Amino acid sequence: MSAFSYPSEVTIREVGPRDGIQSEKAEVSTADKIRLIDALSATGLPRIEAVSFVSPKAIPQMADATEVWAGIRRNPEVFYSALVPNRKGAEIAAEVEVDGLQVFTAATDSYNLKNTGVTVEDSLPRVRDVVEVAQGAGIPVEGTISTAFGCPYEGDVAPERVVQVTRWLIDEGITSISYGDTTGMGTPRRVRDVITALQADAPEITLNMHFHDTRGTGLANVLTALELGITYFDASIGGMGGSPYAEGATGNIATEDLVHMLEDMDIVTGIDLSALITAGRTAQSFLPGELPGKILKAGPRLG
Ligand code: MG
Repeated sequence: MSAFSYPSEVTIREVGPRDGIQSEKAEVSTADKIRLIDALSATGLPRIEAVSFVSPKAIPQMADATEVWAGIRRNPEVFYSALVPNRKGAEIAAEVEVDGLQVFTAATDSYNLKNTGVTVEDSLPRVRDVVEVAQGAGIPVEGTISTAFGCPYEGDVAPERVVQVTRWLIDEGITSISYGDTTGMGTPRRVRDVITALQADAPEITLNMHFHDTRGTGLANVLTALELGITYFDASIGGMGGSPYAEGATGNIATEDLVHMLEDMDIVTGIDLSALITAGRTAQSFLPGELPGKILKAGPRLG
């Protein structure tokens, strides 16, 4: 008898084409980005974070977002989102008809100041702008809170602080939030503390968990979240996207490692693992370093 009852079904959002590529040092061509998104679109993945519309000066890796978006073959079964920092980005994304927007802030001021130049509270008007554009365009918008399980500058982050920032986003009209373990400081204990606090004090929010495997706790954190009833996770093909704060460090959990584990637990993802591995090989083909995904190296447990 199992001590926990796991959800029977989960939703996975693939973040490799945006989060992954943005955190890679290597330059990836527009054609390769399109090839990767098209490969991912054929795996059964229900959601793909495809591009971000940000200042090309700030994030040169995403300067070709409009070309990438125009070049992919959109699968009508897939929900494609764009990450946007402000009104301008949101307007561009709505104009080219992405399916949904993501807007971001952080749990800690130090990180947000370093990342975007404003404190968390001062980021709220930007969130409001993006929500306004999304509502005007009739498309959904989700929030992201970085450093939700620890901050490279401030250390541990109190779950009460994560709840506070969550309530601020709720006040701006956000109903779904992704909690980022931005530098891989999360452990099952931290994950449990944050999720239980959110379930108690912000029960109206749809929770997405964005875990990293920087310190080897990525899938353990997923398991903890599953035990608490979470059914929405981010992952990146091949584990693409190392931490920008530690040379050679592993970033996002690998989509195919996650699907491989869930499948054996009889948790439905709707994703074809072998198609995912093919997409992982596509990603590996244009990156110089070896991707950290384990299933890409070892293959599935039954071959
Ligand atoms: Mg990430």
